[in-house]
Amino acid sequence: MNESCIFCQIAQKKVAANIVYEDESFIAFHDINPQAPVHILIITKRHIPSAANLTDNDSDLIGQMVLRANSIAQEIGLDNNYRLVINVGKDAGQTVFHLHMHIIGGQVLGRIA
Ligand code: AMP
Ligand code: ZN
Repeated sequence: MNESCIFCQIAQKKVAANIVYEDESFIAFHDINPQAPVHILIITKRHIPSAANLTDNDSDLIGQMVLRANSIAQEIGLDNNYRLVINVGKDAGQTVFHLHMHIIGGQVLGRIA
């Protein structure tokens, strides 16, 4: 827990969010500033600043994160058409330095890469 981290505060239920999924390792909620009809964030409960900080010990965790994201996407009806995004570092657009993956869909998405 990092007291000044907004996503730690959401994980601890100290800040409200529109939560769609939770288990012992992850919590997922609607992005406050959606970029598409569906825009959900799945975050680790553990404070990891960025994907760049993952280690070999986190391989199960990051694998589970993708699998949970897929399940959430199915449950919300994205029907195997969505984008999973992790921005790594400020030059890539990372603004919250607590590991999170965007689940974006509900429309045809333009290419970004
Ligand atoms: P990134 O730019 O990849 O670091 O993504 C951070 C995302 O967090 C942005 O899409 C923000 O809109 C979203 N965000 C920031 N604060 C909140 C919050 N309190 N509740 C939900 N989403 C948030
Ligand atoms: Zn945090």
